[in-house]
Amino acid sequence: MATTSDIIKTEIVIVGAGLVGLTAAIAMATQGRQVVIVDSQATQPKDWAPTETQWDARIYALTEETITWLQSLGIWQHVDSSRVQAITAMALWEPQQRAPLMLRAEDAYLTQMGCILESANLMQACFKRLNNLDLPVTIATPVDIIRQPRDVALLLDNQQRIEAKLIIAADGVHSWVRQRMQIGTVFKSFDQTALVANFKAAHDHQGVATQWFLPHETMALLPLPHPMVSMVWAVSTERAQQLLTLNKDALVAEVNAFSMPTLGQLTLCGDVYPFPLNQQTAETYIAERLVLVGDAAHQVHPMAGQGVNLGFRDVMQLANMATKLSALQDIGDYHFLRHYERARKLDVISMNALTSGLDMLFATESPWIQRLTGWGMQRVNQWAWLKKRLVHTATL
Ligand SMILES: Cc1cc2nc3c(=O)[nH]c(=O)nc-3n(C[C@H](O)[C@H](O)[C@H](O)COP(=O)(O)OP(=O)(O)OC[C@H]3O[C@@H](n4cnc5c(N)ncnc54)[C@H](O)[C@@H]3O)c2cc1C
Repeated sequence: MATTSDIIKTEIVIVGAGLVGLTAAIAMATQGRQVVIVDSQATQPKDWAPTETQWDARIYALTEETITWLQSLGIWQHVDSSRVQAITAMALWEPQQRAPLMLRAEDAYLTQMGCILESANLMQACFKRLNNLDLPVTIATPVDIIRQPRDVALLLDNQQRIEAKLIIAADGVHSWVRQRMQIGTVFKSFDQTALVANFKAAHDHQGVATQWFLPHETMALLPLPHPMVSMVWAVSTERAQQLLTLNKDALVAEVNAFSMPTLGQLTLCGDVYPFPLNQQTAETYIAERLVLVGDAAHQVHPMAGQGVNLGFRDVMQLANMATKLSALQDIGDYHFLRHYERARKLDVISMNALTSGLDMLFATESPWIQRLTGWGMQRVNQWAWLKKRLVHTATL
């Protein structure tokens, strides 16, 4: 990286040091590319000294594909494995059913269907890997982007000017870069809010992730290392506001109504956090010498637990395509970026269709469709070949 007073020349500048930006930096740096990463705030979880009952409220379900990729980047090796829970099965409940649709890892001859871990655990692992690569995060806020004949310049509020061949915007759902480049979005509000909290369960969850689909709401209790579970309860925003006014005991009683038959009494550990749920997709993921990745490009409903996995798949695709460039080829080349965008569109469209479709299906008030959904889930329970396919789809 060449530096002349306040001008830094690099191949790639990444805006945003969330999980997607950090993994993009690691993926590109391990290819020997020059990378500068900038975030407007320090994101390393400095005081993360977890105990058995203290759990980060933000947890992720990672697919097997993501885990393998994180291993290949040397990140997974730094994850605290004592705080990672393998998912052995998924139990999907629907009001018309007496028993859940069970998708088990063994249905597809797998040992696990991904895993659950805390955001802080994975962030910490990314920072340890960044340290190995001697790649610090610059804490500064970008104030302008200037296109130049052969590269692009990112101006920061600390007076630095970073000149790069490519900007990777990983600055989250409200992406400043996307707005600065006047890239519009297609926005859909689900008029839902997710309530997120961690609980201690009376009974062993046995690695089963349980999800209930009700009209206008979904409840997921995801297994953390025993005896903890993490709740993501998506309800109408109006109901979320009502639930948040309840005292803790009354709120826990509402959650226990779901969990009692399988997990027994739940005890709340920590606070309950609300997150508004929207679907937002950028009209384009690329512009001249710019690519949007992660939530900056697409935000999806957490129902499928895919948000961060989708962002990681952006980085996998970009990094994989970059390995095929010759040393003389420009990573900011528009044709290269077009090729990347075409490769990514289908995945994002499918994920939007899946979550919107499930939302519509389970929100319906039509008794016919409700019965049909219940019937369909019972049939799936009986068809081993279909279960095997569903397990593969949910896992990879
Ligand atoms: C309730 C809920 C549950 C979820 N559960 C799951 C799940 O189980 N599995 C899953 O895969 N996904 C889940 N998601 C989605 C997941 O949280 C997001 O997809 C993921 O965090 C996106 O990562 P990111 O790095 O793109 O963005 P972010 O994590 O938002 O990171 C953006 C970074 O950019 C920085 N930044 C912002 N603005 C600027 C600026 N102007 N200049 C410089 N830096 C800037 C921020 O400081 C931040 O560090 C869930 C989401 C919600 C709301």
